[in-house]
Amino acid sequence: MALVSLENVGKTYRMDEVEVPALSGVSLAIEEGSFAALVGPSGSGKTTALNLIGCLDRPSTGRVTVAGQDVSLLGRRQGAAFRGQKLGFVFQEFNLLPVLTVAENVEYPLLMIRDLPKARRGPAVARVLEAVGMSDQAAKYPAQLSGGQKQRVAVARALVGEPALVLADEPTANLDGATAQRVIELMKRMRDEFGTTFVFSTHDPRIMDQAEVLFHLQDGRLVDGARAGKEVAHA
Ligand code: ADP
Ligand code: MG
Repeated sequence: MALVSLENVGKTYRMDEVEVPALSGVSLAIEEGSFAALVGPSGSGKTTALNLIGCLDRPSTGRVTVAGQDVSLLGRRQGAAFRGQKLGFVFQEFNLLPVLTVAENVEYPLLMIRDLPKARRGPAVARVLEAVGMSDQAAKYPAQLSGGQKQRVAVARALVGEPALVLADEPTANLDGATAQRVIELMKRMRDEFGTTFVFSTHDPRIMDQAEVLFHLQDGRLVDGARAGKEVAHA
């Protein structure tokens, strides 16, 4: 069974009197262990799709299933608990807390969501910091790091709770080309090492080439955008 499935999903935002269709008739499946990307121009619906998969929003029509759970059946609290147990997030703006050290930023989800005893938090944090190559920066503050280092910390934070799925919305948009490439390679290595499924979004062709499965969005619809040598997912 697929880890993520969207069945004929539609999402319409309501702004005052106007309805803005963000997704229409999107069906897709993402297998466990995938390194997948949602790609398409700005406004094509990438963030909307990731928000639905991440239980941050609900579809207007259709069904979103993550790890066997129909996420539209989850209430607010249940959704938050589900996110804490199953999902990790990486953001375009890194979203590290400036007053916490690198190690404390990575530990944060374990305190907020997992309620893990202290004796187990330390080793969990050390393990993911080691995995992303940031062990020697553990005592630094985010302001002392480069963009690429910040995003490596954010990847560690996303992984520390051992989620089934990490969602990364344009994780490389604030990075230069070479650094962006390295962050995507790091995420792929984390998929290999931890078996975590990754779904990221991008509109950068150089970055999308790193994905093993591509879902092309255009105007809120999945389009067939075949790329040579790539497996292209169809609706
Ligand atoms: P992308 O991430 O690919 O840039 P989005 O999912 O953010 O695309 O947006 C898809 C469409 O939905 C766009 O037309 C956008 O303006 C609209 N949209 C996104 N979020 C909202 C919102 N909260 N309220 C109203 N319209 C929105
Ligand atoms: Mg977006």
